[in-house]
Amino acid sequence: MTEAFPQRIAFAEARAIIDRVAAQSRLENERVPLARALQRVLVEPVIAGIDLPSFDNSAMDGFAFRHVDGDGDATLKLLGEQFAGQSQDFSVAAGQCVRITTGAPMPSGSDTVVIKEDVRIDADVVTIPGGIRAGNHVRRAGEDVRRGDVVLTPGQVLGPAQISLAAALGHHDLSLSRRPTVAVFTTGDELRPPGQALMPGQIYDSNRALLQTLLIADGYEPVAWPVLPDDPARMLPVLRDAAFSFDLVLTCGGVSAGEKDHLPNLIQQHGQVHFWKVRMRPGMPVLFGKLDAAHFIGLPGNPVSVFATYLTLARRLLDGLQGRRDVRPNVRALLDGPVRKTHPRLEFLRGLLRCDENGQLRVMPNPADGSHRLRAAADSNALIILPEEAGEWSAGQVVDVLPLSGF
Ligand code: AMP
Ligand code: MG
Repeated sequence: MTEAFPQRIAFAEARAIIDRVAAQSRLENERVPLARALQRVLVEPVIAGIDLPSFDNSAMDGFAFRHVDGDGDATLKLLGEQFAGQSQDFSVAAGQCVRITTGAPMPSGSDTVVIKEDVRIDADVVTIPGGIRAGNHVRRAGEDVRRGDVVLTPGQVLGPAQISLAAALGHHDLSLSRRPTVAVFTTGDELRPPGQALMPGQIYDSNRALLQTLLIADGYEPVAWPVLPDDPARMLPVLRDAAFSFDLVLTCGGVSAGEKDHLPNLIQQHGQVHFWKVRMRPGMPVLFGKLDAAHFIGLPGNPVSVFATYLTLARRLLDGLQGRRDVRPNVRALLDGPVRKTHPRLEFLRGLLRCDENGQLRVMPNPADGSHRLRAAADSNALIILPEEAGEWSAGQVVDVLPLSGF
């Protein structure tokens, strides 16, 4: 293979290439109903067309009255009832009150609410205790959002709070980036689907489920295809088919330098390679390129490599294609045990992240080494990231940590 593309590049350079390609291939926008907007990226600002609350209303069930200075108990004459969803025509003068429920508009003339548990009611006479502050239990119009405020901005990822805020402002749908479609392939003659009997030398395909669920957890709807054999002539047409109809073709295995690792050659001959091999461990052989109109990412086959490369590189591309603004920052935690590293590659160690009783994040490195050891991944909830330089870290030192789902 000729080497007309970057190889063995630094992790930061790989991210920069991914960011550049993503910025050049931003997906189009579409209007999406709120219930389908979870984890998606907003492309237009949301500007409040109304105040929130849009009218003064009661924060409690009780009685609305006009506050008069003075501290002793007072008796008020009950004029009637004002429930949420109604707007009665009361005019409350000093010495009068209206029964009110949470969220109901404050009757005109009233400015304060006393909760129902604090009053005594005798026919139409309500006795309230002294010492109630003026404006008690009243939510003021516009105290949360003012009409004209920009409440959500382009690039922001929508969670339940952002989506319900848009709903509170009266939006039925939002302008979002289209979600990338992803085709998932595992490769390897040794792979069998779980549930079938194994022949000697065969193993179960665990990465298919790993990639499917990683993608689903990020909000995508991956389509996983049957396992590809280690045969370039049979791989190519299937990958091309997928490249025709998906934004991203994501493969796993067959991407390093072994005799059966055909993907680097295949993509170089029939597509384009942006980079191959990144100075990271695990995950070094990862390949990023294009096949026809689709982006192509070849993840290495070892299960822990799939974790590290999906979470830091493939996910980055998917985020970037949608113009996602926040870049999923790592957290920082204190090491619970020493670690040592002798190679000049960015290292991802499995670890158990927890918050101690003093509110401090701590991470315990898993002693298992080897990117095939899936159990150590299942026993972990985070990846500890050690910088490229070789070095030693002792317990109590601060390290970067990438939380996995479940933390
Ligand atoms: P490869 O990159 O194809 O050489 O694969 C590296 C290692 O990962 C080998 O031990 C493979 O058997 C293993 N492997 C590759 N694909 C999968 C998969 N889908 N599920 C489980 N293990 C895999
Ligand atoms: Mg293989």
